[in-house]
Amino acid sequence: MLDAQFFRRWMTATAASVDREAERLTALDSPIGDADHGSNLQRGFRAVRAALDKEEPGTPGAVLTLAGRQLISTVGGASGPLYGTLLRRTGKALGDGAEVGEDDLARALRAGVDAVMALGGAAPGDKTMIDALVPAVDALGDGFAAARAAAEEGAVATTPLRARKGRASYLGERSVGHQDPGATSAALLIAALGEAGD
Ligand code: ADP
Ligand code: MG
Ligand code: MG
Repeated sequence: MLDAQFFRRWMTATAASVDREAERLTALDSPIGDADHGSNLQRGFRAVRAALDKEEPGTPGAVLTLAGRQLISTVGGASGPLYGTLLRRTGKALGDGAEVGEDDLARALRAGVDAVMALGGAAPGDKTMIDALVPAVDALGDGFAAARAAAEEGAVATTPLRARKGRASYLGERSVGHQDPGATSAALLIAALGEAGD
């Protein structure tokens, strides 16, 4: 079973990995965006870490809804409302129990990813974070390591795609040949699940 501490570790591991990879995320956002994805997420996940320390939410659902709220209020770019919605919707779907099973997490995360698709209008293949999140949720039934591998593969597979959503879509054909920054950060989020489980 996964308790609030697990979800706190998931969020702090994500924050640490965003800190480590911020420059790379911003560099990926340079040719097909406005070179701020790393700094956007760094600001957001620092706020998440601070809020979790201050408010100490006691259930898995409360940890994720608080984290989602912080992302929405502190990240200026498109990724803030999208990641914020992902975590808030996932948190809401987890309910208010003190512990949840891995199958509950897989179901809740699917609801979260569906909410991101509804909000942003992106489908798989549009060269967005969805291209890492959907395969990760599909693989989550096989464990955190499988979900991580699927997310990383999904992120790399955005390279030959033409962007159909977000800033990169303004470039049309010129978006081809670059890995999507949001799919790359989504893979970090999923990879952090494995660290939280250790
Ligand atoms: P901005 O584009 O506002 O500067 P960021 O650079 O923080 O925001 O985030 C860009 C990332 O957001 C993209 O790489 C993409 O993965 C994701 N993204 C943008 N628009 C959408 C959308 N409509 N649906 C899903 N993801 C999106
Ligand atoms: Mg950007
Ligand atoms: Mg921006």
